[in-house]
Amino acid sequence: MKNVEFSSKNGVFDINSFICECDAAVSGEPVQQEAEPTPPPAPEPSTAAVQVPVADGTDPIIYHPLEEVLCDLRMGKLILMTDDPHRENEADLVCAGQFATPQNINFMATHARGLICVPMAPERVDALGLPMQAQHNTEKHHTAFTVSVDAREGTTTGISAFERSITTMKLADPKATLDDFVQPGHCFPLRAVEGGVIRRAGHTEGTVDLLRIAGMEPVGVCCEIMKEDGTMARLGELGSFQKKYGLKACSLAQIIEHRQHTEKLIIKEEVVKLPTDFGDFMCHSYHSKVDGQTHLALVHGEIDPEKPVLCRVHSECLTGDVFASRRCDCGSQLHTAMRRVAQEGGVILYLRQEGRGIGLSAKLHAYKLQEQGLDTVDANIKLGFAPDLRDYGVGAQILRDLGVRKLRLLTNNPRKIVGLSGHGLTIEEQMPISIPAHEDNKHYLDTKRERMGHLI
Ligand SMILES: [Zn+2]
Repeated sequence: MKNVEFSSKNGVFDINSFICECDAAVSGEPVQQEAEPTPPPAPEPSTAAVQVPVADGTDPIIYHPLEEVLCDLRMGKLILMTDDPHRENEADLVCAGQFATPQNINFMATHARGLICVPMAPERVDALGLPMQAQHNTEKHHTAFTVSVDAREGTTTGISAFERSITTMKLADPKATLDDFVQPGHCFPLRAVEGGVIRRAGHTEGTVDLLRIAGMEPVGVCCEIMKEDGTMARLGELGSFQKKYGLKACSLAQIIEHRQHTEKLIIKEEVVKLPTDFGDFMCHSYHSKVDGQTHLALVHGEIDPEKPVLCRVHSECLTGDVFASRRCDCGSQLHTAMRRVAQEGGVILYLRQEGRGIGLSAKLHAYKLQEQGLDTVDANIKLGFAPDLRDYGVGAQILRDLGVRKLRLLTNNPRKIVGLSGHGLTIEEQMPISIPAHEDNKHYLDTKRERMGHLI
């Protein structure tokens, strides 16, 4: 993927794009990242509800207020759901599972022509006891397929629109049990991530979240849209498709925005004084309902929503932060940032997501692979992690709760923006943290620069 990454003007960004990286993993949410160099930063419009690049001679997608989209879903109609131009850059046709009529399935098979899938709330997958298709998910976007199924009753081969309709409606039936299905089959359930679009901005989560917001069974149907020439239709090319079939459309960013405005995903627990070797802070602790972790914000000085706040978003790195490991530069970055924030005022947001989300044990495995000659990106891939495993609307909600609206961000990472314009934070400035290289971390820093596009 070759687009964008850092936008300071138009304002909206994914907080995850700027989290400190420790060696082991190369960050993400499920929002994913390829291990290739990032091109120079360029401003890019947000996807919240418009502005996608439009190819010559085509119409842009028109986005509708979420309420209108929900209304169509409740009436059993199909809608369009787009993700971020920086992610898959695709639109899916979506409908409610309880309205997976043969007509809707046939329309998807005929006009959308991607894989017809059945996004399901995680508790529904668990209640059915559907096993996952892959033990170790190595797909780039961590698309979470369960085993495929057909309904036991009413199907022959399982593939006709009529029979897929029967299977899908059965999946949407809260009274269904695993006995009602045979495996494998021709319907492809997807397990949405707990926490939905807040944790993973994918069509699976978007479908389930929309249905929940609509007050319907959290089981849907989605299908990617492929053009007649067999390539995937990009967002800029879908306006005429939308117009032809009279479809309402929404973006994942709209769903995120809605949930952020209507739900609080963090709980402030305590505020205490924290004098440190680097200066004095107020330490705010937050419980995250999304991951169950306690995250910390060290604040120095007053926060004015009108003014840009100096901010460092740091992911926990036990070896670097606590033991001053020289395998990475996390500890030095944290302490340099603490010193600056203590001088100028601002926030250190400390997110408890060791090794960019893969956990301490996996990080140490990755270190071992590096000792055997792999670089940090390859080591993660070898372990089966996409090189980007961070999620987090959580960090953005904490910053907003503290009153931050505009940021001067301390980071060396101009990484991609993953379409979370719903977070409503503006980056006014990006400032590098410069840490001198030494023998033990030179290779690591070279990898970050060459393979992950860091400005170091
Ligand atoms: Zn580290």
